[in-house]
Amino acid sequence: MGVSAKEYVEKVIEKVKAKNPGEKEFVQAVEEVLTSLTPFIAENPQYIQQNILERIVEPERQIIFRVPWEDDNGNIQVNRGFRVEFNGVIGPYKGGLRFHPSVALDSMKFLAFEQTFKNSLTGLPIGGGKGGSDFNSTDKSDREIKRFCESFMTELYRHIGPDKDVPAGDIGVSGREIGYLFGHYRRIKGAYENGVLTGKNQNYGGSKIRPEATGYGVTYFIQEMLKDMGESIEGKTVAISGYGNVAWGAAKKMAELGAKVVTISGSKGYVYDPDGIKGKKVDYMLEVRGNKDVSLKDFAEKFNLEYFEGKKPWERKVDIVVPCAIQNEILLEDAQKIVKNGVKIVCEGANMPCSAEAIELFEKHGIGFGAAKAANAGGVAVSALEMSQNSLRYQWSEEEVDSKLHDIMKDIYKKSKEMSVQYNVSLAKGANIAGFKKVADTMLMQGNY
Ligand code: GLU
Repeated sequence: MGVSAKEYVEKVIEKVKAKNPGEKEFVQAVEEVLTSLTPFIAENPQYIQQNILERIVEPERQIIFRVPWEDDNGNIQVNRGFRVEFNGVIGPYKGGLRFHPSVALDSMKFLAFEQTFKNSLTGLPIGGGKGGSDFNSTDKSDREIKRFCESFMTELYRHIGPDKDVPAGDIGVSGREIGYLFGHYRRIKGAYENGVLTGKNQNYGGSKIRPEATGYGVTYFIQEMLKDMGESIEGKTVAISGYGNVAWGAAKKMAELGAKVVTISGSKGYVYDPDGIKGKKVDYMLEVRGNKDVSLKDFAEKFNLEYFEGKKPWERKVDIVVPCAIQNEILLEDAQKIVKNGVKIVCEGANMPCSAEAIELFEKHGIGFGAAKAANAGGVAVSALEMSQNSLRYQWSEEEVDSKLHDIMKDIYKKSKEMSVQYNVSLAKGANIAGFKKVADTMLMQGNY
């Protein structure tokens, strides 16, 4: 008792560092969220009395498992599988599966922690989780991917279920992988529980607009930010990174609204298109993503565009920057370039693409900053709508889903903004407070949870 909010937050951060040695990304995410909660905690001593922070930073459950599979040459390969069930207080654990060489317990924990507050912000009944494997799907054959997915599900199936834990896609996991995972789950369970996974094909319960949802949602969120600045998205130039699902959805919606997306990128370089990526070019992004023999360089050649090897798109002078690739892709030196280029808005499409130093610099220079857990919540929001449709055994039209998504994004912006005004903090911190409040209050309601 008698400890101040600041002291309490610092004490919990120190404990997290001591208890999770070497988990840099998890500590980065925890530090960012907890620090931003200080003014809110100061007004609400019940969170200190009930030690909510120390409870909320500890995952409810962490599952780590072996994934052996046979490659096309008959060799047995072994990967590591994860599912972190972080917080299930407002609904079944919900969050994607990531197949990428960088996957380790650290990244799974940071993603599941962030997901908890993101899912809370959607206003829908979903808890937070994340999973995946250090499996690199980009150089594997279709048969290898299928065998890997089957082996992965052979262990995962016992931990998930429509009322328990509902995975979806993320980096390296899209409709194809979800199909193989669901097919195997169905065979093991001997029942048709299609609410166990989201991001499914529409033939077996997938929602319309789900593939587009994250990118559309980011765009709707940017529109709200612009409205507050008295501006519109039409005619704005945009630098996007990545070429996957989020980048694709954002490029598609932005082109439709009259913005000009001048870059997309991969880990080895970026493409610059002064005319703006639209129409056939947006469609061809799916080819780069889904076909291991087509690269971003091929994209540039096909459309006669310049490709900048070894460079990031942040050197371009644009109005809006939307990082849609991976965590920590905008570090301090990138942020300095962005500031110098007179960018108005940086909005996160990927999860935690900006480092803490980068965000601080944007805020110092008055650049509008949209944080991932608010801005990219559209994907998981439509996943939750997919769960609703599966429960109803029904499918909503494209217009219905898109208008629900639009409303959800406006609501997330409104909640974040209100908290930022009330506590005199940035929009990103306002989002943390709004996301945290619902989870923390529900934990209190449910007792010694
Ligand atoms: N992987 C996405 C995210 O980071 C979507 C998760 C989901 O649909 O469950 O939010």
